[in-house]
Amino acid sequence: MYRAYKFRLYPTPEQQIALAKSFGCCRWFWNYSLNLCQETYKATGKGLARGAIQGLLPSLKKEYPWLTDAYSQCLQYVALNLSTAYKNFFDKRAGLPKFKSKHGRQSITYPQKVKLEGDYLKLPGKVGSIYCQQDREVVGQFITTTISQNTDGKYYVSIIVDDGKATPEPITKGKAVGIDLGLTHFCITSDGSKFDKPRHTEGHAKNLKKKQQSLARKQKGSNKRAKAKRLVARVHSKISLVREDFLHKLSRKIVNENQVIVVENLAVKNMVKNHNLAKAISDCGWGQFCTMLKYKAEWSGKTYIEVDRFFASSKTCSVCLHKVDSLPLDIRSWICTHCQTHHDRDINAAINIRNEALRILALGTSATANGGNVSQPGKASVLLDAVPDEVGNPIRLAVG
Ligand SMILES: [Zn+2]
Repeated sequence: MYRAYKFRLYPTPEQQIALAKSFGCCRWFWNYSLNLCQETYKATGKGLARGAIQGLLPSLKKEYPWLTDAYSQCLQYVALNLSTAYKNFFDKRAGLPKFKSKHGRQSITYPQKVKLEGDYLKLPGKVGSIYCQQDREVVGQFITTTISQNTDGKYYVSIIVDDGKATPEPITKGKAVGIDLGLTHFCITSDGSKFDKPRHTEGHAKNLKKKQQSLARKQKGSNKRAKAKRLVARVHSKISLVREDFLHKLSRKIVNENQVIVVENLAVKNMVKNHNLAKAISDCGWGQFCTMLKYKAEWSGKTYIEVDRFFASSKTCSVCLHKVDSLPLDIRSWICTHCQTHHDRDINAAINIRNEALRILALGTSATANGGNVSQPGKASVLLDAVPDEVGNPIRLAVG
């Protein structure tokens, strides 16, 4: 079973330079290959295979000798990442891969030959051993190691290990819970619990606004501007730390208390047409929340199910399945004209989501009573999903 660990790194000034060079080389190679992929796509309608991208490296290294500043396996991993990004795009799981900017988060991935030696993370190549603040023991075989630098300047390492244990067979019996994403609350469960949105943005919004205004007043290219930029980035990091903490605690609570966890698949990517809703979803970290529910459920041998939102979860009475014609968003509770049940709009929807998954589990098929689809994401996807991309809280990341 794969597990992810995330720790803070403290490179020396020399190591920071070596890392900056590696980040730069990998970013350049990504952008170079991406451009080539785009040209190829325009000409042939196809992408470039991983082998073809990797095959560019020897001649590029001759042409651009500085490219050897990066560890060669890190460059090869860029080719793997890019071909995976294209595969996800062709399979309609993601948008087109984007060019990487030197102003964003930087990262490199080592596929092997990384070790932890005492308080140090030993990397192959020129970087060497970096002081690494570990608050837990890493158990298992290293799969990939990603070094990143956030826009606030802090360095982190994300280590994916295989702990050698088999993934427990998921239980499909026991307490099931349906979870609905709310507009007034973060989420609503079929038990009738409503969880408030994390109030991180309110608390930090003022501070962020002040720092952003201060940044706007600074002259372009000045040292003061660079400093103000770091301060803005620091507030952003703080906000995502608080949000992540909230999501970890809530997902842990839900997984502990239930055997079957059902969420609706919002197909967030298809919903961007409604910009307000899409923004609300990405702001509250709904996708990240589902990822956490999924891997925590898998780790504890529980079942995580996504129900496609084809069926009208809000408009169907969860008691008699009578469907009302319309239910405007501002109506928070209603009475079923057929069975006279008084419904809370959101709790009713959550119950429908749970029931839909239970019907599917009982039928043992992916065809559903309401014509929806269900996906029980495969175990193979855990590796990618477990990679903590955001600013992590190292204490809670592996515990969950
Ligand atoms: Zn009814």
